Amino acid sequence: MAVTASVPSRLPERSSTAQPRAIDASRPMRLSVLGATGSIGTSTLDLVSRTPEKFEIIALTAQSNVKELAALARHHKARLAVIGDETRLAELRAALEGSGIRAAAGADALADAALEPADCIMAAIVGAAGLKPTFAAVSQGARIALANKECLVSAGHVFTAAITRFGAELLPVDSEHSAAFQVLAGADPASIDKIVLTASGGPFRTWTRDAIAAATPEQALKHPNWSMGAKITIDSATLMNKGLELIEAFHLFPVSVDKLDCIVHPQSIVHCLVSYVDGSVLAQLAPPDMRTPIAVALAWPDRMTAPTEKLDLARLATLTFEPPDEDRFPALRVAKAALRRSDTAPAVLNAANEIAVRAFLDRKIKMFDIAALVEETLNAAERQGAICPAQSLEDILAVDELARFLAYEKLSGY
Ligand code: NDP
Repeated sequence: MAVTASVPSRLPERSSTAQPRAIDASRPMRLSVLGATGSIGTSTLDLVSRTPEKFEIIALTAQSNVKELAALARHHKARLAVIGDETRLAELRAALEGSGIRAAAGADALADAALEPADCIMAAIVGAAGLKPTFAAVSQGARIALANKECLVSAGHVFTAAITRFGAELLPVDSEHSAAFQVLAGADPASIDKIVLTASGGPFRTWTRDAIAAATPEQALKHPNWSMGAKITIDSATLMNKGLELIEAFHLFPVSVDKLDCIVHPQSIVHCLVSYVDGSVLAQLAPPDMRTPIAVALAWPDRMTAPTEKLDLARLATLTFEPPDEDRFPALRVAKAALRRSDTAPAVLNAANEIAVRAFLDRKIKMFDIAALVEETLNAAERQGAICPAQSLEDILAVDELARFLAYEKLSGY
């Protein structure tokens, strides 16, 4: 991929993300799925179950859903099942009795699961909780199919440096980044004018500011196009998700911040557009089904069959685009500012947003309070000198902890 050529970039190590190497296709791919019971995890295992002879499932993890984890582990004949919640170990052992599948529990066991030798690790734990296990996966130099966006958002510089150091291979699973990854194939970075990520606009795309202000969690959880976990669905409703994705894209692709943009595209068919200096625009299109980008990451550089509905453009008839409205979706503006501020600002943004989204789901705050709480937390962190360069995962985790403390402090004032 020519995108690995050197470009004026503050992060030359980002080029490591665009160097796919083939996995030995003469034997089944040894695959572990971190976050196996979630939306991405189950979609991954759905793909696996269609050609089981091509995969050997090594480790599956979940946080508290023992029943589903045990069922998946049995069905896929996993070697190891790990539950994050230590109090559920006995329950997991009972559910796996007679299967020969090893059981373990706790945060350290999650990271250990990521260290079990595998060709590919699907990193699909939600939130900053995915950092340690995904970093552990990187340290074994395997292919990382990265759904957990927090590794790039909170720890982008440190994470991409670790990918390079351990000779791991990073393939994006987020649909927009998978699209960009495919579209950029063969491109000279100097020829890229802009990478534009699309956003569906979420359930409130056409709502007035006043209506959004009064929106309930149930309304925010009704995504028009995608079926996803609760956290990312709320992020899609605020457009914070697009801000997080711009930060991800900055770490994945060798372009400067001002070459990254987003556009609202309600049909969610075009996932990314790359415009070149000669005026050409290349795009990737697919129906809104995460099994397509997951299949891309599992099979790269080949292709595997996915049960995604085939695209029928004549039936769709119309594809529309509109600029995002940062007045009605202030979270996008706050995230863009954190990207430009750089250093640990995105880690603070992510931690505060996790707290804010939880508070919104628990009906403690309203929709617009999410962006406000995140912005106040960023300002407080800046005043404390916590927005600074990070050298290690430990630095990031310390900032994450401080940001959560500050966000909770602010939350008590709502
Ligand atoms: P879900 O909420 O559906 O699933 C999360 C998974 O992580 C579950 O297996 C859950 O276990 C586990 N988990 C939750 N909390 C913890 C914890 N503290 N420690 C360890 N494991 C935990 O999330 P999604 O599948 O929607 O998203 C996963 C990641 O992928 C996120 O980072 C998201 O932003 C990203 N992503 C998701 C997309 C999607 O379409 N869903 C699209 C693009 C990116 P349990 O079931 O036991 O709670």
